[in-house]
Amino acid sequence: MARTDAIVLGAGMVGVSAALHLARRGLSVALVDRRAPGEETSYGNAGIIEGNTYFPYPFPLKPSALLKIAFKQAPEANYHLSYLPKLAPWLFAYLRHSTTEAMFDFAEQMRPLFAASIAEHEKLMRESNSERYLRTNGWLKVYRSTRAFDEAKTDLDAIAAAGIAFEPLDLNGSMALEPGLSPVFERGIFWPQAASVSNPLGVTRAYAELFRSLGGVSLTGDARSLHKTDGRWRVDTSEGPVDAPVAVVALGPWAPDLLEPLGIYLPLEVKRGYHRHYRPDGNKGLNRPVLDAEVGYAVVPMEQGLRLTTGAEFASRDAPPTPVQFDRLMSKARGLFPLGEPVEAEPWMGRRPCFPDSKPVIGPAPGQSGLWLDYGHAHWGLTLGPVTGRLIAEMITGEAPFTDPQPYSAERFAR
Ligand SMILES: Cc1cc2nc3c(=O)[nH]c(=O)nc-3n(C[C@H](O)[C@H](O)[C@H](O)COP(=O)(O)OP(=O)(O)OC[C@H]3O[C@@H](n4cnc5c(N)ncnc54)[C@H](O)[C@@H]3O)c2cc1C
Repeated sequence: MARTDAIVLGAGMVGVSAALHLARRGLSVALVDRRAPGEETSYGNAGIIEGNTYFPYPFPLKPSALLKIAFKQAPEANYHLSYLPKLAPWLFAYLRHSTTEAMFDFAEQMRPLFAASIAEHEKLMRESNSERYLRTNGWLKVYRSTRAFDEAKTDLDAIAAAGIAFEPLDLNGSMALEPGLSPVFERGIFWPQAASVSNPLGVTRAYAELFRSLGGVSLTGDARSLHKTDGRWRVDTSEGPVDAPVAVVALGPWAPDLLEPLGIYLPLEVKRGYHRHYRPDGNKGLNRPVLDAEVGYAVVPMEQGLRLTTGAEFASRDAPPTPVQFDRLMSKARGLFPLGEPVEAEPWMGRRPCFPDSKPVIGPAPGQSGLWLDYGHAHWGLTLGPVTGRLIAEMITGEAPFTDPQPYSAERFAR
């Protein structure tokens, strides 16, 4: 039997970051996953460290947008009809959290995390020698019509008032930043307070390596074997059982598989998303991530090629992939940027773990002493992994947390 100070379950960006922050505070830590670090959701994201985020992605309230989604015409969203009855309570809660007031609550409560996100990555990248993956040149959103750009303006006033920098651009200004784009759009917004990485898997692996260099241990095991014995948490691994007074659940979309048998029911659903890499057609490239705002996809330069990532698909976590959004957007995407042949035979699918208020849960698990929760990072798990890892490590070790953790408490769902 191996005894440690803490077990972290799940080795995506979120779990690796929590394990790393605990280890650097002197705890002996076992990081347990059924796969190698970073190979699930944290593998396939768009690689954007969205330090500029202010508002969440709301439930679409415009009837025209809803109709387009309902008739499966929207490139930005898809759904499985058979899953809607199961999803309905979560969708209604998501709708309730899409009011203007709720948007501002999110902005106020999440801002301390987003504001620190790039600096927290930079620290870990320096220590893990992975700065080669980092680009600190922001990201660009392009708008095909001035009308869509004007609609974004209401949000922009609030964002400017919060002191977040952005630069509205015309076509020429946007093309000066990204000469590889074709002039099929009218306006752009450059967001300098964002960074991006050229290989999200490489970054998670580098952080996991840094964790091991601090004495941490990575083990293979099934998190669902976690149970309490003699007041300590115990999990089975390929190296035998490991126990500790503290266990951190960082299983992203799979957290309910462990928590529900322990009697902890929190309203997590997934927004599935896909990516596929394309070879550039000719010698054109991109300098930074570009979001085609009205069509609803991003193109990001990665080591593997140009990664095209899709918006949300509402479907069961475990249902087979249905990457139909590519059919709806490929002609538009090829019009914006000359994409060559796909690199992989099939698109990759990931699952964004989402609570209806778009905030993660960071803090103690209700009713289970020594059990901590760090999951539900939704669209921002790459962005927020390190900063939430720091926050939970501060809470566990009794340090003063750098920001008030109360808005991220699981107790918010008990009300
Ligand atoms: C298409 C797409 C684009 C995205 N773009 C961005 C972006 O640009 N910027 C951004 O910040 N975020 C982005 N995200 C979101 C981000 O990828 C996620 O929020 C993040 O990866 C979640 O990390 P995680 O560590 O919580 O989960 P994961 O990376 O999924 O890690 C969970 C781990 O738990 C392990 N696990 C599960 N069950 C068990 C078990 N029973 N036993 C042991 N281990 C288990 C898994 O193997 C996995 O390694 C995007 C997501 C998608 C899908």
